[in-house]
Formats: sequence, structure tokens, C-alpha cells
Amino acid sequence: MACDVLVIGAGITGIYQLHRAREAGFDVQLLEAGNGVGGTWYWNRYPGARFDSESYTYAYLFSPELFAEWEWQEHFAEQPETERYLNHVVDRFDLRRHIRFGEKVTSAEWDEASATWTVRTAGGAEHRARFVVAATGIFSVPYFPDVPGREDFRGESFHTASWPTTPVAFDGKRVAVIGTGSSGVQLIPAIAGQVESLTVYQRTPNWCTPLNNGPITAAEQAQLRADFEVMQATLNTSSHGFLHQPHDRATFDDSRDERWAFYEKMWNSPGFTKLTSNYTDLLLDPAANAEWCAFIAEKIRGIVDDPATAEQLIPRDHRFGEKRPPFVTGYYEAYNNPNVSLVDLQRTPIVRLTEDGIETADGVGRRFDIVVWATGFDFGTGALLRMGIRGRDGLALTDHWADGPRTFLGVQTAGFPNLFFPGGPHAAAGNNPRYNGDQVDFVTDALTYARDHGCDTIGATAEAEERWTAMVDKGAAMAPSFGECSYYFGTNIPGKPRKYLLNSGGRPKLFKEIARVLDTDYAAFTLSRSG
Ligand SMILES: Cc1cc2nc3c(=O)[nH]c(=O)nc-3n(C[C@H](O)[C@H](O)[C@H](O)COP(=O)(O)OP(=O)(O)OC[C@H]3O[C@@H](n4cnc5c(N)ncnc54)[C@H](O)[C@@H]3O)c2cc1C
Repeated sequence: MACDVLVIGAGITGIYQLHRAREAGFDVQLLEAGNGVGGTWYWNRYPGARFDSESYTYAYLFSPELFAEWEWQEHFAEQPETERYLNHVVDRFDLRRHIRFGEKVTSAEWDEASATWTVRTAGGAEHRARFVVAATGIFSVPYFPDVPGREDFRGESFHTASWPTTPVAFDGKRVAVIGTGSSGVQLIPAIAGQVESLTVYQRTPNWCTPLNNGPITAAEQAQLRADFEVMQATLNTSSHGFLHQPHDRATFDDSRDERWAFYEKMWNSPGFTKLTSNYTDLLLDPAANAEWCAFIAEKIRGIVDDPATAEQLIPRDHRFGEKRPPFVTGYYEAYNNPNVSLVDLQRTPIVRLTEDGIETADGVGRRFDIVVWATGFDFGTGALLRMGIRGRDGLALTDHWADGPRTFLGVQTAGFPNLFFPGGPHAAAGNNPRYNGDQVDFVTDALTYARDHGCDTIGATAEAEERWTAMVDKGAAMAPSFGECSYYFGTNIPGKPRKYLLNSGGRPKLFKEIARVLDTDYAAFTLSRSG
């Protein structure tokens, strides 16, 4: 197959890229490793999987008609609804006929003479394209810790991020969940009431706060539609891509009573507001952060009946916001069920999996019917580095990024012309589709610019890449609250370079730099004609 633009990945970013590039008049095809549309919302179908972003702020905003016709059921939709929504979008905009499912890309090689990419898939297919847009996601490569005997376990085992399409029968089963990150803490309360026993293996606890979800009432549905344009304008310009407004006070501007009343308000507010609308110095002043954490610890002690379990659930190794904070429904309450128990892996690490269970360092062996790995992802660079990408002069991306990703705007890397990766490392942070969408809009503009100027190749210069990468690394080193203990820095993967994988300048820096590219007639890129 040959086309102008080959998109890889049918998640929310790739679908939008397919739509935008087609709209701009390109011949576009999309390859997807999975057998359906949705990306994150196709693979992560474990019980309890749902948004932490408000549904209507996560959805596409490019079509007022699409926005008006899709009625989200809940403020924070569950996975099946989001998967249905993305399928609806694909059909509504007649995109499905451009998508090939079950096509996992295993190599992509640049040919200078023809100014094209040759892309090969696991099934042996070969595709040629002038431009490749890898919308392969930052949470798309599940990670398994290196635990001896993982393959020996004879019961059923699942990773939350490659969940089967047929329901898993948990009823009356002895279940182990390994990991208490954002996925584990959604899954645990969703199955606790169903299983015979649930044993949670926790490496480090997280600062979990309530999601405060609820159905969207008819009046709210009407208001959302009436407010569409204002909401679109807010979301298109907000630094984090949410509707939440920042607070106007620092912690110690308020008395203790006022602070506790404010924390209570935060605790009862929806999702990410605890981060985006909290006191302005939450991430800047360690004392401010410590007090908010003390408030959450007090809540945990108030909810969890067993004091020893409560203490084990309180984080000691990081501040709020230093890792991605999970938002939960009934998580701490789940530990009050007599069939739920917690194993602290700091004290008693897993030694091995056996045929019928898990053995820990205290010599205890527990038997299970099902083991669930909620152990996260090779975040940021995982998918791109596994795709066999080779650019100019055969340069392998794995070599170019041996010390961590190097990008310009989080969309291109020098030496790999005509390859774009919106939604990859160095993008921004916050409500993902908003800044991934900014990147897709920019990529579409760049493709159009190259075509309209009669150019076959477009590639970020080494200087532009150096400038953006230095900005990311410098910003990450400066932020006082952000230690290097999270997947943001790749520290969950042994041996991975400790480099910040998001964009520490956030969406404002992205806007500024894109404006500069447009104002300077693409000076940060080299454009040329082949032949
Ligand atoms: C459980 C969970 C909940 C989340 N909740 C939120 C939230 O509330 N708010 C938020 O902003 N973000 C959330 N995220 C982050 C989420 O990943 C993004 O919001 C968004 O879905 C990313 O979309 P994407 O299209 O960029 O990537 P993905 O959705 O990851 O899609 C990438 C696609 O590329 C495909 N692919 C990868 N490699 C290859 C290859 N070699 N060949 C072919 N295909 C390939 C994958 O199969 C996948 O379908 C969540 C993530 C998870 C895991």
C-alpha cells in the first residue's frame, strides 16, 4: 500500500490526525495493532476503568454537531462509553474504511532517495508513505516487573492494559492485584464485592482522593450544549486543558480553620480540581504540600477501620502531585471488607510466582485463581522505541534517544524527516486530548505547508530539537516538588534513562513555540525537494 500520510495508532490522537489530514486533502491510511478503535479505551477495559477528566472536556471539540449529538452519561465516563464514543466518531466521519486493524508496526525506515518511509508490520505487510504520523500513545506499552516465575502461574493472569474483550469471571475467585497506581485503585473497589478474597500487593501507596463522579442530569446536558462555545474557548486556551479555574490564595494566607474548610471543599470537588484549583503554592511550597497531605492522611485514617492497614495506605515517599494522583470511588472503603487484605511489598517483597500463587519474602505463600498485574506502562517513549524506526543514514531512534527523548515541540526529532509523533513524549501535561489535539493541528499545518511549498521533506533542525529538549530538562530540574520518583521520569522501569518525559513548559510553552514557527515561516525546520 502507498499513501501520502500513514498514521499509526487508532486512539483519540490518531483518529483526529486521520480526520484532519483527510480534511486537508491528503491520501491517508491508518494502521492499528489492536482489533478495534480507541487506543487506551480499547485496551484498558478492566472493571472500573474510567476517566479522571470530565467526559465533555475530554471529547473532541472540532465539531459542534458531534458535541451536540453525543450525550455523555456521567461526568467521568466509564471505559465502554468512551470506546462507543470513539467508534461513533470514526463512523460519523467515515474514517473506518481508512483503518487497518491487527497491523502492528515493527519497522519504519526512511529512504532519502525517494523521500519516503517504508513501514513493515508483524504480519509481513509493507507500506510506503511520504509522511508517517506515529500516534502510538504514551500509555500503550504495558509493563511487567521482573518477578521470577511469572510464566509458571497456572491460573488466569491479566494486565490491566491488555484486558480481554470477553468479561473476566471474578465471582467467588481468589484474586491477587499487584500494583496500586491509577489502574489498580480503580479496579480494586470494582471487584472487591464480587470475589471470594482479594489480596492487594502494594509497592508504594499513592495520594488517592475522591473522583466525585455522578450522572449528568438533563438540565446539565442542556447547559453543556448552551455553553459549548464558551467551553470550547476555555478548553482551547487553558494551560492544563480543563475547565477548572485556579484558586487565588496561597496556603498560609488563610487561618488553620479556613484551610481545613478549603481542604474539605477540595476533597468533595471533582477529579483533578484537587491539583488544578488547590492553593496556588501546593506544588511550590513543601510546607503547603505537607499540610494538604496531612489532611488526606487524616481522611484515610477516618475511612479505613484497621489502623495498621490505614498507615500502610498513607504515602511516605512522595508529595501530592509528585506522582500522577489517582482519583477513586470507594477505594479506601474497600479495605473494610473482610475479604480484602493488603500486603506491603516494602516489608515483604514478592520472591516468586508459583504454579498456584505468590510467595513473599516472609515465607508466606498465598494461593490464587486470578493474578492481575496493575503494574503500569513503559511510559512516554515505550511505543516509539519498539517500532524499529530508522531515519537518515540508517540512524536508529533507539540510538538517537539512548539518553532519553530529544524532540522539537514533542512532535519531531532531528534526523528523522517526515516523521511526526503527536501525543508522544515532551507533549504537555493535563487533559490529554487537548494538547495532543494542538499537536495534531500543528502537524496538519506542517504537512500542508510542505505540500503547498512543493517540498517533499520537512524535518526539525538539530538546533530546534536542542532548544526544546533543554527547555524540558531545565524546567524539570527546577520544579521543587517534582522529585524523580515517578513514571514521569521513567523511574518505574529499571535501566531507563532518568529524563523528564512530559513538557515542563506545559501547554503555554507549546502555544508560544508553535506561534513562533508560524511567524518565522518554519525557520525551525528544514524543507527540501527530492530528486
Ligand atoms: C486507564 C487509563 C485512564 C486514563 N484516563 C485519562 C483521563 O482521564 N484523562 C486524560 O487526559 N488521559 C487519560 N489517560 C491517558 C490516555 O492514554 C490519553 O488520554 C489518550 O487516550 C491517549 O491517546 P493516544 O491516541 O495518544 O494514545 P493511545 O490511546 O494509547 O493509542 C495509541 C494506539 O497506538 C497503537 N500502537 C502502538 N504501537 C503500535 C504499533 N507499533 N503498531 C500499530 N499500532 C500501535 C496502540 O495499539 C493504540 O491503540 C488514561 C490512560 C489510561 C491507561
